[in-house]
Amino acid sequence: MCGIVGAVAQRDVAEILVEGLRRLEYRGYDSAGVAVIDHENQLTRVRRLGKVQELADAVEQSHVAGGTGIAHTRWATHGEPSEANAHPHVSGDIAVVHNGIIENHEALRALLQERGYQFKSQTDTEVIAHLVEWELRQSESLTEAVQKAAKQLEGAYGTVVLDRRDSSRLVVARSGSPIVIGFGVGENFLASDQLALLNVTRRFMYLEEGDVAEITRREVTVFDVNGVKIEREISESNAEHDAGDKGQFRHFMQKEIFEQPKALINTMEGRLGKDSVVVDSIGVHAAEILEKVEHVQIVACGTSYNAGMTARYWFEGIAGVSCDVEIASEFRYRKFVTRPNSLLITLSQSGETADTLAALRLAKEKGYMAVMTICNVAGSSLVRESDIAFMTRAGAEIGVASTKAFTTQLAALLMLVTGIGKQKQRIDAAKEKEIVDALRALPAQIESALKFDKQIEALAIDFADKHNTLFLGRGEYYPIALESALKLKEISYIHAEAYAAGELKHGPLALIDADMPVVVVAPGNELLEKLKSNIEEVRARGGLLYVFADEGAGFESDETMKIITMPKVSEITAPIYYTVPMQLLSYHVALIKGTDVDQPRNLAKSVTVE
Ligand code: GLU
Repeated sequence: MCGIVGAVAQRDVAEILVEGLRRLEYRGYDSAGVAVIDHENQLTRVRRLGKVQELADAVEQSHVAGGTGIAHTRWATHGEPSEANAHPHVSGDIAVVHNGIIENHEALRALLQERGYQFKSQTDTEVIAHLVEWELRQSESLTEAVQKAAKQLEGAYGTVVLDRRDSSRLVVARSGSPIVIGFGVGENFLASDQLALLNVTRRFMYLEEGDVAEITRREVTVFDVNGVKIEREISESNAEHDAGDKGQFRHFMQKEIFEQPKALINTMEGRLGKDSVVVDSIGVHAAEILEKVEHVQIVACGTSYNAGMTARYWFEGIAGVSCDVEIASEFRYRKFVTRPNSLLITLSQSGETADTLAALRLAKEKGYMAVMTICNVAGSSLVRESDIAFMTRAGAEIGVASTKAFTTQLAALLMLVTGIGKQKQRIDAAKEKEIVDALRALPAQIESALKFDKQIEALAIDFADKHNTLFLGRGEYYPIALESALKLKEISYIHAEAYAAGELKHGPLALIDADMPVVVVAPGNELLEKLKSNIEEVRARGGLLYVFADEGAGFESDETMKIITMPKVSEITAPIYYTVPMQLLSYHVALIKGTDVDQPRNLAKSVTVE
C-alpha cells in the first residue's frame, strides 16, 4: 500500500533509502523503518512510529552503515500502527518489507508456529519473513526460497527480502503491488514507485505480476510466474526531477491546484486538431472500438468516481450514449448484467486502486467489448491491463486529496465523449468545434480562476469553526458539489455533504440553520432558474449561502448570501472550471484549521488494498 525502497551498492545507502521514503511520504503512512547490512554482515534495523523525519534522525544518530538495505513506510492493515509492527520484519538472518495484504496469513501463522517460529508483531507481513527463513533451509539460494514462499502466499504483495549473511543481493517479488527496479552504475535500486529513485537513476524496469527478481550491484535477473528467466523492458524515465519538491508553495496540494493550467495543456497536447478531437490519439484501435460502443460503464472510487459522475452527463447529453457510473467496491461484488457493446472505463489517478483493478479484471471475464482506463501513472497495473490507456499526463500528484488528477480526468473524459460522439456520428462538426474551442480556452480560464485565491481565502474564515457544510448543484454541477464536499471532508475534517439541489425538500432542508454554510455551484445554465428557487428555500429557513456564479446569473450579495462572481466560460467546460474555486475553498479552510493538508489523517494516496 505504501512505500518500499531498496538498494544494493558499494556506498552507504541509508540516506538514499530514507530520501526515497521521503519522496513516497505523500502516499500516507503511519510508521517507517530501514534495515541495512554492512561489510561485516551486521544487520542494523531502525524503525519509528510516525514521520519519516523521525526515522531519519534515528538513522543519523545510530550511524547506520552499509551498502545493501531495504526501507518501508507502512500503512497498517493488520495490527495497530506501532514500532513493533513497523517493517522490516526479521526472522533469523532474513529481513523483509512488504506492501499489500497476505490474505492467508492466519493459516500460515499457525503452520509456522507449529514449526517453532515465534511471532513478534501482529502483522500479516511477518509470515513472509518466517516462511522465507524456513524455505531457505531447503533451498540452494535466496531467490529459490522466495519463489517457493511466493507460491504459498495468497493476496497482494510487493515484497523485498534480504539475507544478513549475503550482502551482495536483494530478492524482490511482485504480485498485486507495483515494484520498479532502478539501474545505476555499479549499483542497483528498487522501489514501489519510480518517484522514490529519481535522484539516483532515470533507468527503470517494471516487474510484472508474479515476477521474482534477484538484484545485485551489477545484475538484475528476473523470473516470471513460472520460474522461467525472462527479460523485461528497461526504459528511460522523463518524469520531472522536481516532482517531489514543493517549490515556492506551502503544500503539495496548493502546488497541484496551481499546476492545473499546465497539467491540462499536457492532457490535451496532440489530442486536439484545429477544430476536432484526434480520435487516434486516444489509443490504438480507439476509432474502431468507439464506433461500436453502445453503452459505457464507468467504475471508480473517491474523486475519480465524481469525475465519472460528471462525465455521465456528457456521455448521454453530448454523445447520446447511455452511461452508468458505479463505485468499484460495489461493482466488483455484485451480480451485474453486461449490456451489448459495452465499454468499461476505469478511472484512477494511480492506476493501482485495488477495487478498481479487481473490477477491471472481472469485466474482462464478463464480456465487455473493451476495457479502457483513464489514468495518470504510466506503467501502472490498470494501464497495462486495459485495451486502451488514455493517460491524463497531469504529472506526479502528491497531495493525498486529488486536484489536478480530477480536472485532467474531466478534460480527458470530455475528449473521449467527443471522440465517441464523432465516431458514432451523433455530433456534428459545429458541436465538435464548440467543444474543442472550449477545451482550448480552459487552461487560461483556470489561470484566471486561480486569481480568486485571495477572495476565497477571506471567505474560508466563515467555515473554519463550523461542523457541517452543505454543497448544492444541479445537472453536471451536482457531481462538482460531490467532489467539493469530498475535498472539504478530506482535508479540513469538516463534515460535508453534497446534494442535487432539487433533492433539498426531500430531507436535507431539515438541516438548515445559521450554523450550516450552504455552498452553491450556480453558473448560468438552463437549470439556473430552478436552482434559484432552491436557493430561496434555503434563505427562507435562515441558511447562510455562498454562491459561486457567473456574471450573467443575476445574483446580488446581501447579509444572508455571499456571491462570488466568476467570469463567464463555456457551459461545456464550466464544471471543470468551477472545480477550482472549490478546491481553493477547502484548501484555505484546512489552512485555518491547521490540519495536515498533504497527508490528512487516516488516508492514503494510492489505495492498493480493498
Ligand atoms: N499488511 C502489511 C501491514 O499491515 C503491510 C501494509 C502496507 O502495505 O504498508 O503491516
